[in-house]
Amino acid sequence: MTTPDIEVAADLDALIARLSLEEKVELLTGRDFWSTVPIESIGLRSMTLSDGPSGVRGPVWDERSPSLNLPSASSLSASFDPAIAYRYGRVAAAEARRKGVDVVLGPTINIHRSPLGGRHFEAFSEDPRFTADLAAAYVNGLQDAGVGATPKHYVANDFETERYTANVEVSERALREVYLLAFERAVVESRAWLVMSAYNSINGVTATENDLLTSPLVDEWGFDGVVVSDWTAVRTIDSAKADQHLVMPGPHGPWGAALVKAVEAGEVPEAAVDDKVRRILRLAQRVGALGDSAPAEVQAEDGPTFAREASAEGMVLLENRGLLPWDASALRSVAVLGSNAEQARTQGGGSATVVPERVDPPLECLVKALPGGDVRYSVGAINQVGLAGLQGDVLVNPVTGGPGARVTFRDADGGELFAEDRLATEFVWFGGDAPIAASRRVETDFTLVPKGDAEVELGCAVTGHARLWIDGELRIDEMLTPEGDDLGAALLSPRPTGVPVSLRAGVPVEVRFEVDLGERDDALAGALAFTVGTRPVQSSPEEMIAEAARVAAESDVAVVVVGTNEKVESEGFDRDSLALPGHQDALVEAVAAANPRTVVIVNAGSPVLMPWRERVGAVLVGWFGGQEFGHALVDILTGVVEPGGRLPTTWPATEADVPVLDVTPVDGVLTYDEGIHVGYRAWLRAGATPAYWFGHGAGYATFEAFDLTVDGPVTADRDATVEVTVRNTGDRAGKHVVQLFAERDGSTVERPVRWYVGHAVARLDVAEEARLRIVLPHRALAHWDGGWQVEGGTFTLRAGTTAADLPLTAEVDAR
Ligand code: BGC
Repeated sequence: MTTPDIEVAADLDALIARLSLEEKVELLTGRDFWSTVPIESIGLRSMTLSDGPSGVRGPVWDERSPSLNLPSASSLSASFDPAIAYRYGRVAAAEARRKGVDVVLGPTINIHRSPLGGRHFEAFSEDPRFTADLAAAYVNGLQDAGVGATPKHYVANDFETERYTANVEVSERALREVYLLAFERAVVESRAWLVMSAYNSINGVTATENDLLTSPLVDEWGFDGVVVSDWTAVRTIDSAKADQHLVMPGPHGPWGAALVKAVEAGEVPEAAVDDKVRRILRLAQRVGALGDSAPAEVQAEDGPTFAREASAEGMVLLENRGLLPWDASALRSVAVLGSNAEQARTQGGGSATVVPERVDPPLECLVKALPGGDVRYSVGAINQVGLAGLQGDVLVNPVTGGPGARVTFRDADGGELFAEDRLATEFVWFGGDAPIAASRRVETDFTLVPKGDAEVELGCAVTGHARLWIDGELRIDEMLTPEGDDLGAALLSPRPTGVPVSLRAGVPVEVRFEVDLGERDDALAGALAFTVGTRPVQSSPEEMIAEAARVAAESDVAVVVVGTNEKVESEGFDRDSLALPGHQDALVEAVAAANPRTVVIVNAGSPVLMPWRERVGAVLVGWFGGQEFGHALVDILTGVVEPGGRLPTTWPATEADVPVLDVTPVDGVLTYDEGIHVGYRAWLRAGATPAYWFGHGAGYATFEAFDLTVDGPVTADRDATVEVTVRNTGDRAGKHVVQLFAERDGSTVERPVRWYVGHAVARLDVAEEARLRIVLPHRALAHWDGGWQVEGGTFTLRAGTTAADLPLTAEVDAR
């Protein structure tokens, strides 16, 4: 008797037997930027892959094909709720289906090793077990709906500096207990259909050729899916001998004809090629891309409604000196300050970017929510780094006369190859129909009709020879070269330049932009990105701050929205400072001095320094909260919903205190010499005190937790069950997160001072009580020493509300 699995495998082998070596090899490199090669003769259609950490962009990066912008990963993980992560995956699956996407390139589950990490906002946490639990739920949410998930980037890609070439030196124990552990549940339990291999090397071998792809991924964890490379991460034919299965993007890549030759020469066994093909066909079967199967229908809840709930669930109330929630009916006047109040950042930069249909800024949401109140806005400090693109409502397309801009692609003789009418001036062609590779010049034309008076710099950000005419006058004629050699950063964060312009309300400004494109043969040759836009000229920061403080002093309460943006938190580079950009700290200090009833909203995806945190009425971290951020924020300020988040990563008071900060390779090597002591473990070991520990955050209700019990020993065959009672002692319903850590006194092995082993979430009405349960598996107490080992004896369990505030203790016997 054969099991269904074996039958399926037999079917795949029969299909493989019908393919020539050339056909098999062709399947192993992408057809283009985002899709795989179809093979009609065996009923295989092309599959589409698309980035997923903030929503699903789809095969084009274009405001005319918008996507639901979900909260970024650090907001999702702050919910501390795998059920939210599951729903997130499900909603993303519905978006994927809507956009014809079979595989979502996410979740990003690298570790928050250093707060300077450029893609911190896109990853979950500093703790590997916590990351693993959320990642597993996200993967289930996607895959239960028939859409493939791709946990990434395997492995130790926890920084961006020199990301293509850096070699991470890391001990086997730290790899197992920290960096691999983050991936393990998503593969072993959620059976992820793909994993993305990283750009970097690990202990001297680049990720796409590294033995870690075989062991533990394939042989120990039983991964039967596809290892897809990060874009352009495969460099040589050697990777074909490794458990690297799909090269992206295509169609050009290092495998192709070279791999056919290598197989014919006996250098790469054909069985290795067949294994890769089998995995790709299995993926096709799973997503409904093979034979008669069709993609499964996805039933999911309403996307924007979920995005609003998820954003509020992730918001972390760090400080509240009796100020929140507001009694909205008693508020007469509200001062709203900070540039992020008007232009909230809902996501970071880089490949995770999606183009939302609309974003309602916090300011507008507040005005709507307080119809009787006097809401007054003053920008206070400018937080724009680089150029911001212009939106259709201030643009006239000279060809159509409608809103937007005309973009024209020309060949070497100036002949028109293609033209597009666009609705905004931040352009990324990374897939889609525009003939980038064939174009030698791209022109953009529009008329800017300003809504108000402003002193700005008008300019462009691009890689290449740029020319910009303003009202017929050539104002920029410059060769712009990228700052580093990261292809992705050169594409997605090109260097800006600009010239001063005085804009007057309603007075049209004619703009023409041209960029010359040389011939290129790198893997991103068919991609292009540029922005034509403005940045505000900040001539008198002191006056702006003084004006904001004046508005604050005259109002009942003040809300300052501070933050970073997509030019600060992105990929291809790390942050160079944890401080808020521009004059935002001075703004908060001045506003708080003018009005003690000041709430600061932090609109950033990663830790920032908040030197003023003890001098303001409340601090709420809103993260990059997705397109519904403004609404979720108002829900929380007005008390309709309580802030549901807790910090998934420790936040420092100063940069100098951070025990693991370094993200810059030396001579190409980044050494993880802190070993297993990452995040709160490093802070505990250093005896240092952060501003806020992992787990910190409160809602509006108050809680009491007591009676921590363990039901017996923990063994390889028996999980222990830990229970704790939680009671709502407040005057409203609320959410409480109990976190559980383990310690081992007098251990014979080096260990973290304590480490996270699980948590439970209670949602309780006034005076309600519940007994929460946390399952403690043997592995949660294990350490790696050539294999997983559990040191027999007594472990102490501590429960509480942060990695350092753990008043309840119990003991568990490990055997
Ligand atoms: C990023 C990946 C992403 C890929 C495709 C790479 O630069 O590192 O996370 O999935 O691009 O956009």
